[in-house]
Amino acid sequence: MSGEGPSRAANSAPSGGRAAATAASVGGPLLEIAGLDAGYGEMQVLRGVSLVVRPAEIVAMVGGNGAGKTTLLRAISRLISSRGNIAFDGRPLPATADDVFAAGLVQVPEGRQLFDRMSVEENLRMGAYRRRDASAIAQDLERMYGIFPRLADRRRQIAGSMSGGEQQMCAMARAMMARPRLMMVDEMSLGLAPVIVDLLLETMTRIRAEGVTVLLVEQDVHAALSVADRGYVMETGEIVREGTARGLESDPEVQRAYLGDVTGGD
Ligand code: ATP
Repeated sequence: MSGEGPSRAANSAPSGGRAAATAASVGGPLLEIAGLDAGYGEMQVLRGVSLVVRPAEIVAMVGGNGAGKTTLLRAISRLISSRGNIAFDGRPLPATADDVFAAGLVQVPEGRQLFDRMSVEENLRMGAYRRRDASAIAQDLERMYGIFPRLADRRRQIAGSMSGGEQQMCAMARAMMARPRLMMVDEMSLGLAPVIVDLLLETMTRIRAEGVTVLLVEQDVHAALSVADRGYVMETGEIVREGTARGLESDPEVQRAYLGDVTGGD
């Protein structure tokens, strides 16, 4: 793996707490990644990945199977080691997965990873496990049932017995219960019917309206760009395109490679 040495974030304290104005509150990026390398053992997957996510944006990270998208999320969540710089709200990202979660970066993993034998509501409460504000947690539960009405009808249902789409809603609502600042969603649409994907995409805009910034990692390029403000295209561990979602959708190369346009024209 290449790189210039240990990540600066690895040596930083999880929270500084000095400045009243945060980088994001004065117009700076919420997440800023520069020159990120990561992989598994000897195998390097990410090569010099740089990206920016601004407050209240929905940013899509798209690319084919095995491009390295999940690896990127694992590196951001500090589940695997990496080299390069990751700043969150103007400060070095904390070095451990626990501290990253506590800082407000919450991942909705591919495959949902719910507590299958627990009810929907128990799953949602697990999302708030670090919080001690019981009355606010109760309010947030109701708020989640407002955003995801299907979950309200199923709050006592065992999560593992629900449909894939309902389980995805449950995983997103559970993440929201942590009151994230940045929610990173991995392959939300995988294996779901288009009508359910549309419903989930609509929910994304409601989540953003709640003040949560979203990084959406997707193989379904069309779905991701339909809801995103901006996007990045990843191929074999590198960012090969970036731009506004509309710009990427109309890019002939992106159309040819990902949007099923065999002519590549417009
Ligand atoms: P997908 O949508 O299929 O998950 P992706 O873009 O998320 O694709 P990654 O899962 O990040 O891609 O995989 C990137 C590369 O890293 C692939 O070559 C994959 O085989 C490899 N890889 C992923 N996880 C591991 C692991 N735990 N150990 C070793 N190699 C891995």
